[in-house]
Amino acid sequence: MSGNKLTALERNIVACRRCPELRAYCAQIARTRKRAYRDQTYWGKPVPAFGDDDARVLIVGLAPGAHGSNRTGRMFTGDASGVWLYRALYRAGFANQPDQRDRDDGLELHDALISAALRCAPPGNKPSPEQLRRCAPYLESEVMQLTRLAVVVALGAIGTRAAVGALQGAGFRFAGVPRFAHGAESTAIGPHARVTLLSSYHPSRQNTNTGVLTEPMLDAIFARARALAGAAPS
Ligand code: SF4
Repeated sequence: MSGNKLTALERNIVACRRCPELRAYCAQIARTRKRAYRDQTYWGKPVPAFGDDDARVLIVGLAPGAHGSNRTGRMFTGDASGVWLYRALYRAGFANQPDQRDRDDGLELHDALISAALRCAPPGNKPSPEQLRRCAPYLESEVMQLTRLAVVVALGAIGTRAAVGALQGAGFRFAGVPRFAHGAESTAIGPHARVTLLSSYHPSRQNTNTGVLTEPMLDAIFARARALAGAAPS
């Protein structure tokens, strides 16, 4: 986080033990490590949101990668998905640099907070419905604490479902039934604000290596998010 508002929540997330099977899996990955990262100390704990705690744009991904965020301790850092995401955020003016490596690389987000449906890496990147249900209150809390929230960019079908649930849990009501499609938009009306849910294909290797998602497609999502949220803060 760039400020203090979410710090208590961040601490709760890092200390969470609601899914013993995921905690055991992440700890085991952190012990065994990947050959390329043998000299590194893995984070191995639940990963909190990263970015601007007064953001107008919330980005919701799937879950930490076993050797990505579970290694670095920062959302979308240390794997191929993060390379695509942070480059796109930089081009749209939400990040101060296009590259990400670890938590000491100087990367800062402005007007954007990156979170996820699940905070612990699940085996095979496949969380169970029960694990998603247990983790959902964290995203809901973040939605409630982002008092200037205007846009939620949801990555993938699971990210979209998690974002819908978090908005509804925070008191937002959708005008219609939100659907997942690249570029699909839904409006959610809250107690004090109107939020646009904007869905995107997830920048996973599965999508980027096959051309399902291209960099211009991802750029279009964040250009739209920028337009919906308003001009970049000076
Ligand atoms: S996935 Fe979420 S609910 Fe489960 S242990 Fe990790 S942080 Fe806690």
